[in-house]
Amino acid sequence: MPKPALKLKKLDKSFADKVNRLAHTDSRMCFQCRACYNTCPFVQAMDYSPPAILRLVLLGQEKTVLNSTTIWTCVGCNTCSTICPQRVDMAAVMDALRQIALEQGVMPAQPEALIFHNAILDSIKKYGRTHKLDVMIRYKVKNLDLFSDVDVGLKMFVKRKLDMLPSRVKNLVQVRSLFPNGNGNGKSYGK
Ligand code: SF4
Ligand code: SF4
Repeated sequence: MPKPALKLKKLDKSFADKVNRLAHTDSRMCFQCRACYNTCPFVQAMDYSPPAILRLVLLGQEKTVLNSTTIWTCVGCNTCSTICPQRVDMAAVMDALRQIALEQGVMPAQPEALIFHNAILDSIKKYGRTHKLDVMIRYKVKNLDLFSDVDVGLKMFVKRKLDMLPSRVKNLVQVRSLFPNGNGNGKSYGK
């Protein structure tokens, strides 16, 4: 569906500044080559493509960006950040946008996206890295959906893609210090 034309009264740079600061990147360096668009594995499921989101950020279109499905469809795979010739860290931008959205109480249109997001964060808090089985169990319990995809889980298990036991990083304290209250017991976003 064609997007409505933007009506800009004046250019507010504060949103872009905030995103750049949180993402530790300079989105102004983007020259819209669309390499990230062409390599993002989830672009078809997004309402705005990654470079379009970046352009909207630079144009100060905060409401549109924070309400987009794109920021929650992004899985943070880093493909875009790796390929960008301008070293724009798009994955970090998406993460910053999710953070700002939740701080402002802008919830994703699909609630399960937030449940999944928090399941991943909780797993990282606990082990210092994601443990797939732990993420799946957390997600399914919170989503009250215990039995769908059991066949996929079994296939992953048979192919040894699903470790039963988690492994912890050595410096768990350092990882946990990245979370809001620094001890890994803080609430995840939106809970
Ligand atoms: S790859 Fe980099 S420069 Fe190219 S459109 Fe994406 S963010 Fe912009
Ligand atoms: S990090 Fe997000 S935007 Fe970038 S390629 Fe992966 S899914 Fe797409």
